[in-house]
Amino acid sequence: MVSSLDRLRDQLKRRGVATDVIDWWGRHRRALPWRALAGAKPDPYRVWLSEVLLQQTTATGAAPYFLEFVRRWPTVEALGAAPLEAVMQSFAGLGYYSRARNLHACAQAVAAAGGQFPRREADLLRLPGIGPYTAAAIAAIAFDEAAAPIDGNIARILSRLMAFETPVARNRPALESSAVALTPLSRPGDYAQALMDIGATICRPRNPDCERCPLARACLGRRAGAPESFPSKGERKARPARVGAAFYVERADGAFLARRRPPRGLLGSTMELPGGSWVEGEIQAVDASAAPFAASWRRLPGYVEHVFTHFSLRLALYAAPAPSASAPPGMVWINPNDIGSSGFSGLMKKAALSAASEFRSPAFKRRSNAPSAKTRS
Ligand code: SF4
Repeated sequence: MVSSLDRLRDQLKRRGVATDVIDWWGRHRRALPWRALAGAKPDPYRVWLSEVLLQQTTATGAAPYFLEFVRRWPTVEALGAAPLEAVMQSFAGLGYYSRARNLHACAQAVAAAGGQFPRREADLLRLPGIGPYTAAAIAAIAFDEAAAPIDGNIARILSRLMAFETPVARNRPALESSAVALTPLSRPGDYAQALMDIGATICRPRNPDCERCPLARACLGRRAGAPESFPSKGERKARPARVGAAFYVERADGAFLARRRPPRGLLGSTMELPGGSWVEGEIQAVDASAAPFAASWRRLPGYVEHVFTHFSLRLALYAAPAPSASAPPGMVWINPNDIGSSGFSGLMKKAALSAASEFRSPAFKRRSNAPSAKTRS
């Protein structure tokens, strides 16, 4: 098994796969805001920042975040010196706020070391928030080290190229050895970025566009006639469905109540509407028992839905006019115009905007004149 894999690798190398890929990239590279122009030296700060942002979203989704970060903090020293709150705020909407904390901690560590990122994978791995993929991507792109980053897209390309049927999660050693064997010593950074572009635009999960692919000549998956079938998907685990309630309280001037989540855990340190825990169950079973104080709570129609990596969430929304103009302990009033800059997660922004719109509707006002269905005292 190992010797046939070695033989395949040798064949692919002899066929000049990496050269074809780099030549293709010279003609078709995507223009992305964090990329150095052809022939220019990449800025390690921009490479690192883009790779961290791209852990959360696509290039299109990451671009506005990247531009905002480099506008506010053009150097790693500036980012390290920024208040954590401001960094969290600019990260809001990307989820996984522990990554924003790590981003800030990493900037501080690099700034403390003189502002220079280490160039070797092993040293990059010691920095906060940098895992194996990100370390390899930075080493390759920023420093032209012969590192072999493997994310989901690159794992798919390699699986098809080598006709690996085994699901990616169970095939790491073969994928890693293939990736290392194929990585050229000359221009490994361009090669890595080319694979990223091929994964995003050509060797897509469905309908790979083999006609345009620089790997087509060598691709064993394509030769087998069904490139999409590589790698096999493996067993899918059902994502648990959790439910909860969020409570929207609006003051006469339009401000609403919010609180900050604890720093550790899911969506740590972001702002949220007050509410209870998220538990597995049905949305119909959610009631107002988790309300933060007694008020004339009204359930709003529908719910807000959000999908996290490990579970899906449906939040029932309750609304009430503010019983008092002062904020209860641990809560603050938020002006609705400041919602984008107050550190709300995408989920909670969606919940607050949806609740505000329902709360101000004539239907809600009519229903508010009838006795409330549920209150908490
Ligand atoms: S030839 Fe087709 S299947 Fe093979 S790597 Fe290219 S796009 Fe993917």
